[in-house]
Amino acid sequence: MQEVWTIGRILKWTENFFREKGIESPRLDAEVLLAAVLEKDRMHLYVHFDQPLIPEELAKFRAFVKDRAAHTPVAYILGKKEFMGLSFCVTEATLVPRPDTEILVQAAVDELRKRPAGEAVRFADIGTGSGAICLSVLSFLPEATADTVDISAEARAVAEENAESLGLSGRCTFHTGDLLQPLAGNTYDAILSNPPYIPEKDIETLSPDVRLKEPLTALAGGEDGLDFYRRLAGDAPPMLKEGGLLAVEVGIHQAPDVAALFRANPLIGRTETKKDLAGIERVVIGWR
Ligand code: SAM
Ligand code: GLN
Repeated sequence: MQEVWTIGRILKWTENFFREKGIESPRLDAEVLLAAVLEKDRMHLYVHFDQPLIPEELAKFRAFVKDRAAHTPVAYILGKKEFMGLSFCVTEATLVPRPDTEILVQAAVDELRKRPAGEAVRFADIGTGSGAICLSVLSFLPEATADTVDISAEARAVAEENAESLGLSGRCTFHTGDLLQPLAGNTYDAILSNPPYIPEKDIETLSPDVRLKEPLTALAGGEDGLDFYRRLAGDAPPMLKEGGLLAVEVGIHQAPDVAALFRANPLIGRTETKKDLAGIERVVIGWR
């Protein structure tokens, strides 16, 4: 007799299969994908190990497993990712928002709350991708408004969809173009960015999930990874209001160089860095 695919049995099989394929968190990914197929939370799986899957569920799960084994990130398979407690739609045109980036959002919210009362805060998010940074800051600051820029029109469409579903489209304007160019003539309380920062030689060392599936335009920061910081350090400070800030996410070991680039602009009075949960300097802030 053919053995039945129960929840418990298929999870064990998938975990082993993912492990053979070099997937980093084989058990967790198997559970998250199966829970999505069944439209339940992961806890449901643990109390229904003996429940058999119906053919439609099996077919859908098999397709997910095939994609994940080919290193498609779980977020792309499900079409969504949680960031700052909000649900963001993501596609292969957008970087999957990373937990590290929450440090930049938190720093921006803290600093923008200190801005002088009376005038509504306005900020820009450069290289917005899914809109993760901009839309989470807006959700924390109910009076603020924002401009975003991305070079990718496909990413812009995803960010606009996210603004709509989070009820924030009235406070955010989306632009397609090169860094600060579409915003020429404006001034801001803050300019935020998580630009592409992976040095050229490190691209091939990225995990297959990132290297094979995420957009290279979201990752490649030029020969030393600092191309975008050089441009932002020159172009952003004149677009800051007095006391405004330029705050960026940086890659490992980049903070001192980025802070030096910021300080090389005479408009920047002081800089500060913030560490992530692993103790790595992850955010550089420069104040005008
Ligand atoms: N802000 C999102 C986040 O933190 O999840 C995405 C960050 S991703 C590292 C960098 C983004 O910059 C990508 O969406 C990419 O399309 C965009 N980008 C790359 N070059 C750009 C340029 N010259 N001008 C504007 N955006 C650019
Ligand atoms: N944090 C991303 C990674 O490690 C890189 C994002 C970026 O270039 N800004 O893959």
